[in-house]
Amino acid sequence: MADVHSKAARSKNMRAIKAKNTQPELLIRQALYARGFRYRLHDKGLPGTPDIVLKKYKALIFINGCFWHGHRCHLSKIPQTRTAFWLAKISDNIARDQRHQTQLLASEWRYAVIWECALKGKTRLRADYLIDCVEDWIINSNSKSLEISGASVK
Ligand SMILES: [Zn+2]
Repeated sequence: MADVHSKAARSKNMRAIKAKNTQPELLIRQALYARGFRYRLHDKGLPGTPDIVLKKYKALIFINGCFWHGHRCHLSKIPQTRTAFWLAKISDNIARDQRHQTQLLASEWRYAVIWECALKGKTRLRADYLIDCVEDWIINSNSKSLEISGASVK
């Protein structure tokens, strides 16, 4: 009985991780909006369905849940039960992300990946610092990609 409950709770958690419009995503959206950026959301026509599409700058932003997308950090602990299942699932997700990134690198678009651990928990970066980095990349940089992870914590 207890096991049934924990499975249900876990799959609820997994859905939350995969969901769109997560708290970290809203934070980035609101901060960019406040700085005058206008964007579209969740464009299914682009590889990986980017969370934020800044057409004017040919820039895309993905806000990735660390567990779901297989980031190596403190937020992505593999569950003790059905471990093989989760490992397979997550390595599929990593492979899919890499495929999408390869497609984007060959396209006119640039992309930024902001990991969840940069936005929450003990590794969280200062919000204005993070948004400064993103804004600078959007406006001033011509690099094809940007990746922002949480701070390393001793
Ligand atoms: Zn992470």
